[in-house]
Amino acid sequence: MQIKIRSLAKKFKDVVAVDNLNIDIEDGELVTFLGPSGCGKSTTLFMIAGLINQDEGSIFFENQRIDNLKTEDRNIGMVFQNYALYPHLTVLKNILFPLEMMKINKKEALKRAEEVLELLQIQELGKRKPSQLSGGQQQRVAIARALVKKPKVLLMDEPLSNLDAKLRIETREEIRKLQQHLSITTIFVTHDQDEAASISDRILVLDNGKLQQYGNPREIYEEPSNLFTAKFMGSTPINIFDGTYTNDGILLKDNKIVSYGEKFSDLEINKVTLGVRPENLIVCKKEESSISAKVKHVDMIGKDNLVVFYIGEEKYRFFASPSDDIKSGDTIFLKFDKEKIMLFHPN
Ligand code: ADP
Repeated sequence: MQIKIRSLAKKFKDVVAVDNLNIDIEDGELVTFLGPSGCGKSTTLFMIAGLINQDEGSIFFENQRIDNLKTEDRNIGMVFQNYALYPHLTVLKNILFPLEMMKINKKEALKRAEEVLELLQIQELGKRKPSQLSGGQQQRVAIARALVKKPKVLLMDEPLSNLDAKLRIETREEIRKLQQHLSITTIFVTHDQDEAASISDRILVLDNGKLQQYGNPREIYEEPSNLFTAKFMGSTPINIFDGTYTNDGILLKDNKIVSYGEKFSDLEINKVTLGVRPENLIVCKKEESSISAKVKHVDMIGKDNLVVFYIGEEKYRFFASPSDDIKSGDTIFLKFDKEKIMLFHPN
């Protein structure tokens, strides 16, 4: 099912929750709505679900306008953060419930329920009540209940937030596998950029109700279209430098020039903000360096060391191999991976 969103807008009194949103989602895609708390992710999802009415704009499924339809007529399945299972019903009855609402006959309903129980590998849980399930199991039941209607669109609102870190990673992999197996068009809401990057075909980055960028995880990470997206993406924060544009390159505060390729020569602004991901700052000899600094501290992260230093008040980070033997208090010399430098209009 292809989804088109056109000029979608919603205000709550003075708060603009969603501001003139336009996106297309292709059939079978998994698109994540990503952004900080309050940026408008859930409001957008709820408008697609028909749980909130938009002020302006329209939503199309396969060229058919659906924003005037009731939720139950939109052919969607929904999974909420708190799972929203009926506590007094067994797992099987929870899953049968939507089919009863659709007046599907008992035999067919039971067959479908068994299929989704098997799909989610929770056959043995049918007789239990939600209170007798772990968080991860409740989550599977919620997904099974959303899928049993065979919806054309699956909407998931922060479905992993209540799981512990390890289970969250395992479950997101399973959701992705299941989504690809069913080829079901899916919208997944999260504030976790790692989760978004790992699970999505495309990510919609939102801030203040506005689209910041819409693209695949690699584009969003490597070619962020603005400073907000650059800072929001990445498990380790991006390094930010203030620079001045000159004919020879970008002049940093300590009079070092960072040369740049052709791709930046169309910049007409004087001041520029330069962004470099931690993996693109490289230890080098003094003569080649653009930065010299004293190491503040070194943290072990997986197989790498994360080295932290300050220039003035600003904190910077890069990765070093333990064999580089960098210690706090050392003076280090760094250069930029020129291909990976990002330039932004200063704020
Ligand atoms: P997110 O899902 O990204 O955390 P929301 O879509 O829930 O953000 O909210 C977007 C903005 O709209 C926030 O400023 C939030 O406070 C506001 N908002 C959401 N729902 C309501 C509501 N029912 N009444 C008033 N304000 C709301």
